[in-house]
Amino acid sequence: MSETAATGTDWAAVAADLDARDPLGRFTDRFEPAEGLQAYLDGNSLGRPVRGTAHELARFVEQDWGTRLIRGWDEAWMRWPEETGDLVASAALGAAPGQTVVADSTTVMLYKMLRALADGQVAADPARTQIVIDTDNFPTDRYVAEGVAAERGLELVWIEADPASGVSAEQVAEVVGERTGVVLLSHVAYRSGYLADAPEITRLVHAVGGLALWDLCHSAGSVPVELDAWEVDAAVGCTYKYLNGGPGAPAFAYLARRHHGILRQPIQGWMGRRDPFLMGPGYEPAPGIRSLVSGTPPVVAMVPLRLSLEMLAEAGIAAVRTKSLALTDLAWQIVESWPGALDVAIASPREHERRGGHLTIRRHDFADLTARLWQQGVIPDFRAPDGLRLGLAPLSTSFAEVATGLETIRSLLHARG
Ligand SMILES: *Cc1c(COP(=O)(O)O)cnc(C)c1O
Repeated sequence: MSETAATGTDWAAVAADLDARDPLGRFTDRFEPAEGLQAYLDGNSLGRPVRGTAHELARFVEQDWGTRLIRGWDEAWMRWPEETGDLVASAALGAAPGQTVVADSTTVMLYKMLRALADGQVAADPARTQIVIDTDNFPTDRYVAEGVAAERGLELVWIEADPASGVSAEQVAEVVGERTGVVLLSHVAYRSGYLADAPEITRLVHAVGGLALWDLCHSAGSVPVELDAWEVDAAVGCTYKYLNGGPGAPAFAYLARRHHGILRQPIQGWMGRRDPFLMGPGYEPAPGIRSLVSGTPPVVAMVPLRLSLEMLAEAGIAAVRTKSLALTDLAWQIVESWPGALDVAIASPREHERRGGHLTIRRHDFADLTARLWQQGVIPDFRAPDGLRLGLAPLSTSFAEVATGLETIRSLLHARG
């Protein structure tokens, strides 16, 4: 299976050696096996189920839901949004307890947080009517920002982002000023994997009186995040990518404690009210982070996530990041070793400081290669117009999988000439 002709490097042997020395290697067995799978290269889109997820879900249905019935709410589930939020915060966000909830979808949470921050800014200073965002941000972020701007009469300021890299601190510095309300950016760009300089950008947004809202969908569980130390105002993210929560698992949202009781999110539901069971007249937000909750939390959908967060805490995010860089380094070296790189270009940052957990490789005919790869059990995803994304989730992906997956891609391209 190994390509030796061009460079003499036996990548399968290199990968086997890296696996043998990998301190996180034991975690690859902690995921449900998948028959016929050769290489899962899409852990950044949908994480794999942690081993024991099916068992834990069955146990929850039979025992917690099945026997505790409505009492389960009082006994435990009411507190799950904050409790699960704290688990995300400590395992992945560098955030002290009491500032994170798990609820809703990322899209809905993004709306709630962007409205809360933008409204708070205009209330404090009516001139702060601008929302800064970039042209290559994930579609939902752009659409939500457009919706909030239209709804509140705000102005969008677009940073032109290079799809092969991302938004730099210099670009942000150029557009922020006394009219800036909120800056909404992705920490890791969904296309290129570019890792934005979140601490520096947050600092310069604050220096002009703006607030920073970070989308952490492609960083949570892959790249260390220090929300408290960076003094981020608010953040949202998915739990079904590197956090393995399962398809449609709820989002997390962080709001720094200094904003509690001041900023208000717009979906005033009974579950975020002070004393919800009084069912009283008028909305009065619950104290603290609970006010970010709107309706009944998706309790069943948090079961797989809680299991996965335990595992991440055990592995430690620093070790995860070290392996993540080693995985993308290996992929990079293999692609570069191909003769003439087989016309494949790498559209991701080379330097570690700016690289997230995935790589995007480009070739004009990747669109019709993807189906062939999937048939062979090699599973990246395709991003129009010509990008294959290789999402290498550190806890579930072995170095051997990277070598096998890329060897399959190489041999299919080689057969095309
Ligand atoms: C995956 C992703 C989303 C998805 O939002 P949903 O509401 O879960 O569909 C949003 N933003 C970014 C940056 C993403 O990568």
